[in-house]
Amino acid sequence: MPRETSFRDDVAKGAVRTVNLLSRLAARGSGTVIGGRVGLTIAPDLLANLARHRDVVLVSGTNGKTTTTAMITTGWGGTVTTNDTGSNMPEGLVAALASSKSRSVALEVDEAWLSDVARATTPKVIALLNLSRDQLDRANEVRQIAERWRVLLADLGDVMVVANANDPLVVYAAELAPNVAWCDVPTPWTTDAVSCPRCTKPLDFANGSWASECGFAKPQVLVTSDAAPLVVRGTALDLDLQLPGAFNEANAAMALTALSYVGVDLQGALERVNALSSVAGRFSLRKWRGHRLRLLLAKNPAGFSSMLSTLKSDGTDVWVAINARVADGRDPSWLYDVPFELLRGHRVFCFGDRRLDLATRLDYADVEYVVVTDESTLPASKDVTSVLANYTAFQEWRARTKPC
Ligand SMILES: [Zn+2]
Repeated sequence: MPRETSFRDDVAKGAVRTVNLLSRLAARGSGTVIGGRVGLTIAPDLLANLARHRDVVLVSGTNGKTTTTAMITTGWGGTVTTNDTGSNMPEGLVAALASSKSRSVALEVDEAWLSDVARATTPKVIALLNLSRDQLDRANEVRQIAERWRVLLADLGDVMVVANANDPLVVYAAELAPNVAWCDVPTPWTTDAVSCPRCTKPLDFANGSWASECGFAKPQVLVTSDAAPLVVRGTALDLDLQLPGAFNEANAAMALTALSYVGVDLQGALERVNALSSVAGRFSLRKWRGHRLRLLLAKNPAGFSSMLSTLKSDGTDVWVAINARVADGRDPSWLYDVPFELLRGHRVFCFGDRRLDLATRLDYADVEYVVVTDESTLPASKDVTSVLANYTAFQEWRARTKPC
């Protein structure tokens, strides 16, 4: 009976809020996951019910989800419901949706959960950024994820898919969707798509394009092009980000394209996105024991490759912190796929549980390094020092530092 369902949903929503509040009071973090889990146990359809009659934008992909979602939230203007705690599985999404009633909703979604979440939330827009290897020991193989997305998008119906045309795995995932806005954005990391997702023969990358001999190729009609200037659906935009790197320009191009499909004025959105200077502690200037630090999160080879490309070759010291805990993936062998050779000419200080694994990798890369065992001996610098850290290491550095 409909009335019974509604009562159950109300109880579940109340439970999410209550558990989250209690969890916060007990200082056990924001409580988003546990509250959401309780809510979903009481009412399995809670995600669908909470998303009903709202304008939902979903963001998925291996790298850039949090930043792109923050750009969409900021660019949208007004009150936007979002999961900015980074809890991007159903429990976290339920908690975010239960915490705010605003009509505008921007959610980052774990790649493996996109199908379930998209079917439940009937989004207006899905932005697909990229697919690469991440957390070798627990994540699905990227081609399986591309295959699952492809099945989802072929019959999801009236949704606008905003997709990266330079990532062959994303193109494979989105090509059967009825409405796709292809975006031509910087995508330097294509190492996980060397062979064609359709026929497995090698893909040919040349002159900013790519193709397979079977005919599978970069889409021709591109609604967004980030080739100075940025052009989104025919509108030239003066992109002038505070956030560093070509990968953030790609994130911004995808975010602005997504916003254009929920009716947001692009010039206003652009100004707000340009002004964004930090996302969940990332890229922000922090201080610790007299050092000024810029924290950069990088969790996998593609992410590290992007972050390393933002460093100036000025010979300054760089700090790198690596853990291999459950949230990071227990297997640190991915360090061998990171182009640490880019750090030649810098001196690298190795931190984290896996600093010796990192040091060994740097040895192979012919990069000067120091394994840090006593933090009080770190040399002072008048420059801002970049700290590259993977997931739990980043959380540690965020907790121990203060804003400048
Ligand atoms: Zn092919």
